[in-house]
Amino acid sequence: LSFSSCTLPQKLQQNLESAGYELPTPVQMQAIPAALFGKNLLVSADTGSGKTASFLVPVVSHCANYRFKHPSDHKNPLAMVLTPTRELCVQVEEQAKMLGKGLPFKTALVVGGDAMAGQIYRIQQGVELIVGTPGRLIDILTKHDIELDEVSVLVLDEVDCMLQRGFRDQVMQIFRALRQPQILMYSATIPPEAEKMANSMANDLIFVSA
Ligand code: AMP
Repeated sequence: LSFSSCTLPQKLQQNLESAGYELPTPVQMQAIPAALFGKNLLVSADTGSGKTASFLVPVVSHCANYRFKHPSDHKNPLAMVLTPTRELCVQVEEQAKMLGKGLPFKTALVVGGDAMAGQIYRIQQGVELIVGTPGRLIDILTKHDIELDEVSVLVLDEVDCMLQRGFRDQVMQIFRALRQPQILMYSATIPPEAEKMANSMANDLIFVSA
């Protein structure tokens, strides 16, 4: 399987080439086609496996295609990535920007340590993807009116770590604020608690292990 067999937006295809991503990694080969098809995934993958691009390629593709089909003045968020740490969010956002270059694809970083006002302003100006930590996201969502009805993909990265940090209830609260999004859940190991959470979000999960 190659990236070009996945019918991705042309710019995304070019961005993958420019990044030197010639062939998909094993986790990308399994996750990208299924995610593009709208499946809910529970993926066991380590750092270094190419897991980040395995969810960002479908996310960028979905967002760009949605904007091409529904050009509107109100650019509400279309996808959300939750990770356990600020550092991980920064890395995910960087890769997202790289893959989304030249496409209708803007990102907002919603993490602690930066002023909340700037993050809210950025979202209100119109973004496709929000990348954030659960705590700061809840803060923003409870205090500000952010339209989430169009968020149709929710990525949970490093779920084992999020559970260890006690983010379970916050993650569920964010999930419940969305309208039955597609779930792309990633974890190095899959502890029973992670599987339980995944099953409570989607009843037709596909398991991917790479
Ligand atoms: P990750 O597992 O997401 O942390 O990715 C590990 C590294 O692999 C990152 O530096 C990516 O830029 C790189 N990478 C991801 N996918 C590919 C690919 N298909 N070909 C080459 N490098 C890749």
